[in-house]
Amino acid sequence: MRKLMLSARSLGLILFVSAISIFTSMLFVGSYEVSSEDVKAALDDRSFELIGAELINEVGGQSFSNAFEFSEQVGVVLDKHNDKAKAAGEWDRVIWDKKHDFVAKLSAVGLDSSMRNSPGLWLFLTFGLGALGGLLFVLPGVVLLGPPGIKNDGIFHSAATNRGWIGWIVFGWLVSFYIVLYFFPDLTTNWAVITDPLSFAIKNKPGDRWFLYGLLYCTVMTVMAIRMFIKYRGNKYQILRTSSVLFFQIAFAFMIPELLSRFNMPAADFKNIWPLDYDFFFGWNLDTMLANGTFGIFMLFWGLILIIVVVPVMVYFFGKRWYCSWVCGCGGLAETLGDPYRQLSDKSLKAWKIERYLIHGVLVFAIIMTSATLYTWFSGDSEIAGIDTYNIQKTYGFLIGSVFSGVIGTGFYPVMGSRVWCRFGCPLAAYLGLVQRFKSRFRITTNGGQCISCGNCSTHCEMGIDVRAYAQRGQNIVRSSCVGCGVCASVCPRGVLKLENGPEVARIQDNPIIIGREGIQLSNNVTS
Ligand code: SF4
Ligand code: SF4
Repeated sequence: MRKLMLSARSLGLILFVSAISIFTSMLFVGSYEVSSEDVKAALDDRSFELIGAELINEVGGQSFSNAFEFSEQVGVVLDKHNDKAKAAGEWDRVIWDKKHDFVAKLSAVGLDSSMRNSPGLWLFLTFGLGALGGLLFVLPGVVLLGPPGIKNDGIFHSAATNRGWIGWIVFGWLVSFYIVLYFFPDLTTNWAVITDPLSFAIKNKPGDRWFLYGLLYCTVMTVMAIRMFIKYRGNKYQILRTSSVLFFQIAFAFMIPELLSRFNMPAADFKNIWPLDYDFFFGWNLDTMLANGTFGIFMLFWGLILIIVVVPVMVYFFGKRWYCSWVCGCGGLAETLGDPYRQLSDKSLKAWKIERYLIHGVLVFAIIMTSATLYTWFSGDSEIAGIDTYNIQKTYGFLIGSVFSGVIGTGFYPVMGSRVWCRFGCPLAAYLGLVQRFKSRFRITTNGGQCISCGNCSTHCEMGIDVRAYAQRGQNIVRSSCVGCGVCASVCPRGVLKLENGPEVARIQDNPIIIGREGIQLSNNVTS
């Protein structure tokens, strides 16, 4: 039986690697040929009037053997047009579309390949085989792991989970994926078109890179959530919160927004809260909500209620875990895809210091950016203190919204642990954390007398909290960064740790006791 299970795992690995290889190689294949009808179909009337003839002249009817060649050529035509218009001071003739977005529109109509003709087959070869391979790899764990009990055997000896060569390959792949997704959408045409059948079924529109990303996110989370169910079977808290994040991701972050778009309503993820949802107060979003009658007004009020009422009240009663470990999509990915890497988070005091500066710095940046945005929206003045509001938004979107949350936030899992974004960058986590630290009933209590200082808790804390140090002193853990994942308590062999919501009295212990035959009272200076 064991042999059979091991063979199933090997087969799963082969299928998974094949799917990833096919998915990656799709970037480099496909033939592109744009007819004049295609150009007209892809561009709006104004753009077609401005650049249609040039495009048809330069790329019309020609064949390009891959996305890179095609994208470069279209980009050259667009740049040439814009440079000419700018040099002549004809600003109304400049096409302000981002170059990549502009190319992406043409790529979508110009693609002529088997991806376009047989999207279902390619969807199976990538998503299907990947999910099947992943499941074949994780399901035998039920048998191989033996009776319930969390096993982390060998994580520091595996090249995949100890920053070995496999970890670095995964790191390179994830970072490259996010760079392509965010900054080179024109190259993702092949990935997007294979989602067309599903996209039409759900939202009655062709697939695009964000539909692709949502589908990928849900697929990866589902497979890795099944792994969590197996690994943490017997632990009700872990099973429930994993089911919860999976549900919120699939229903709230993916299906509901896509269905709203099907009925031509503004797409909204009703669990996304400012400042994580950093463009909530952007002018275009406020205008869209106000232009959509009762539904739009409801969206606006719901967003405000989440920020002003739901966050403080829920954190007061349950700590930030209600969001970070039960609802949030970023947390959901970290808790599923990131689980094999949680032990890589830095536990040093230096990392803690950097974390506090960085995460609160991002929160301040978000508040400044949003204040400038609202000032512009109310006053109509596009500048504040001589700085263009649009540039502040653009800088935030690039640095925090794309590079930090995506490229670094997820790409760095295999080298920095699973909660890089949540720990160092998420402004909502900073807000939730401030409430949790100063006004909450949540704490992790420590029955220090039972602690054998094995360090399992600290090792597996994804937020880099040295849990053992608290346990050894019998001190409650009330750290603002704790996301209440509960894994420290789950892996503790002595039942020392307990996540609790209790009275605020004595929640913060300023004078903890060193446990031993003769308890030693530590001074405030040592523990503050
Ligand atoms: S202290 Fe425990 S519950 Fe909090 S983040 Fe770390 S492992 Fe999770
Ligand atoms: S896992 Fe439990 S026994 Fe081990 S150091 Fe942490 S609190 Fe102590």
